[in-house]
Amino acid sequence: MNESNYKRRLEEVKKFLNVNDAKLISHYYVDSEIQRLTEDTGGCVADSLQMAKFGTEQTEKNLIIAGVRFMGETAKILNPEKKIYVLDKDATCSLDDSCGVDDFKNFCDKYPDRDIVVYANTSAEVKAMSDWVVTSSIAIPLVENLASRGKKIIWAPDKYLGSYIQDQTGVDMIMWDGACIVHEEYKTIELKKLIQELGDCEVLVHPESPRSIIQLADVVGSTTKLINASKISKSKNIIVATEKGIFYQMKKLSPEKNFFEAPTEGEGATCKSCGRCPWMHLNTFDKLMNVINQNNEIHLDEKTVAHAKKSINRMIEFEDKYYQKNKRAS
Ligand code: SF4
Repeated sequence: MNESNYKRRLEEVKKFLNVNDAKLISHYYVDSEIQRLTEDTGGCVADSLQMAKFGTEQTEKNLIIAGVRFMGETAKILNPEKKIYVLDKDATCSLDDSCGVDDFKNFCDKYPDRDIVVYANTSAEVKAMSDWVVTSSIAIPLVENLASRGKKIIWAPDKYLGSYIQDQTGVDMIMWDGACIVHEEYKTIELKKLIQELGDCEVLVHPESPRSIIQLADVVGSTTKLINASKISKSKNIIVATEKGIFYQMKKLSPEKNFFEAPTEGEGATCKSCGRCPWMHLNTFDKLMNVINQNNEIHLDEKTVAHAKKSINRMIEFEDKYYQKNKRAS
């Protein structure tokens, strides 16, 4: 889109947010236009937990979430007094979808002596039945802390992130069998070839990727960690194994570097996986301008909100203490 069209859209969005007393909050994986509109209207582009936390600091009555449904739910859990809208209620997540509340309850009932730790990519109902909600940035220290207190763990829903945590910590974890349809597609042989072709390069990998991809990484971490790593990297060439919406932030911080998508197409493949999340793609300008309606509002019952909030707040308190302690130690 050319700059004058962008500016026209920006004015429309500013007016729209103002009239509706709303703030726009987006995930790193949505299209670059939505990320840019978010930043230019004073909103926040971040990972799922930071999105919800940012919402708690805003005075607007309405929060508009550009991302997927569980992000809207997390925003509602932390901001029950506000109205939360998502651009498209059909924007879901393969991890969330894999972990239905009844099946997960039956699974957990088999291991009553274990703490239930779930990733942020779950429904509000699954969060409500868990002991802890975690993001990829805090999962390892939190699991280590639980293990140091003699706890055994049920982990859900991402089996790859779960195996990565287990590899790093050696903690006893029973895994739910879920995966992200984007990260699961990265191809090891093709990634090795690309590394060889480029020579001087750094490989940044999100831990929702399979173990064989993680083993080729220079940096493994959350979206925020990967963005920071791309900025401080000394390499001119950066290969990234996560949803490619993130390239917008990386290129903005380091316009002089070359960014490459980790390959998702196997040798001889006749169809290509595009490294894009089909649900993140559902967030468009047109939907944004029509978002304030009953259909797009997130509604959760009070009991679910109260229980899920407890599990999320436990993580936030742990995270705050953990970073304070590390700051003092450094
Ligand atoms: S990229 Fe993967 S984990 Fe993220 S929302 Fe899409 S399906 Fe879910």
